[in-house]
Amino acid sequence: MAEEIAAAERGGGSVIHVDVMDGHFVPNITVGPPIVQSLRKHTKLPLDCHLMIENPDEFIPAFAEAGANWVSVHYEACRHLHRSLELIGQHGMKPGVVINPATKTELLIPVLGMVHHVLVMSVNPGFGGQKFIPYALNKIRRLKELRQEMGLEFRIEVDGGVAHDTVKSVVEAGAELLVAGNAVFGEGHAERDARALLEAAQRAERKAAQE
Ligand code: ZN
Repeated sequence: MAEEIAAAERGGGSVIHVDVMDGHFVPNITVGPPIVQSLRKHTKLPLDCHLMIENPDEFIPAFAEAGANWVSVHYEACRHLHRSLELIGQHGMKPGVVINPATKTELLIPVLGMVHHVLVMSVNPGFGGQKFIPYALNKIRRLKELRQEMGLEFRIEVDGGVAHDTVKSVVEAGAELLVAGNAVFGEGHAERDARALLEAAQRAERKAAQE
């Protein structure tokens, strides 16, 4: 894994996104704090931990201890979202909030002022390799508007199905942090494929800036 990460970094990857799943909130189980701790030893890039778990508050201290830099929690998984976001900040990490495809963007308004990033799910969380849900583009656009209206600076991240066929539209909609799994690691050429995806994103960004 360390080699794959180094290759993605050489290709221009600037954040390592870690999908944490518990088998309850989502129907799959992946990595936890021990893997984050081991990744920490092999990269200086920010570790962006996306917690797809129930009761995230119980695990936030362990992720801080493991060396996570950013931690995002799901709107749908937090009974006390404001408190969870505060807890992340109290542990010296940057808080993010995530919304599932069927959750309305406006529900995030009360917490937008306290997050470092908003993560828009463009697939249903749980598995890699899913097809991009186009409605996510409306949410990205709406978040960009809200950020301007509210005078905030959070970053907009998108996760799920980001690849060559979708990267242009997500960047045009306003996403700034692109999570890519299969599109970078799927064919075993992480450096080449990260670079190609990043170049496509930068082209889309330049074009959007000109218009
Ligand atoms: Zn994720």
